[in-house]
Amino acid sequence: MKRLLFTLFLASSVLAVAQAPAAPPQTKAEKKAAKKAEKKAAQEAKAAPATAAKPAPATRPAPAAKAVPSASAIVANKDSKTFHRADCTFVAKMKPANRVAFANAAEAARAGYKPCKVCKPE
Ligand SMILES: [Zn+2]
Repeated sequence: MKRLLFTLFLASSVLAVAQAPAAPPQTKAEKKAAKKAEKKAAQEAKAAPATAAKPAPATRPAPAAKAVPSASAIVANKDSKTFHRADCTFVAKMKPANRVAFANAAEAARAGYKPCKVCKPE
């Protein structure tokens, strides 16, 4: 009986030893590759949330351009020697040939034009 037990023990231990080399299913190269893949996956997993969490660049609307007086904010009439704001009704009625554009009222006044009494250009 004792011998049988010993044999069994021996057999099981031999079996265990025989199975041992088969235990690691991967070869060294496979292990390396697996480790590499694991690392890559980890890196990707790390990178993925970063890009996902990144809020879309806020497309903030550009601040509305300040109303800058156009180059010809003042329109003078060569014939009547008066100058008007560009949006004055007289400007619309003015003959294109009589129109003289000025950047501002001061320039028109310097040129000898009188301000219109209706639109009062300044
Ligand atoms: Zn006017």
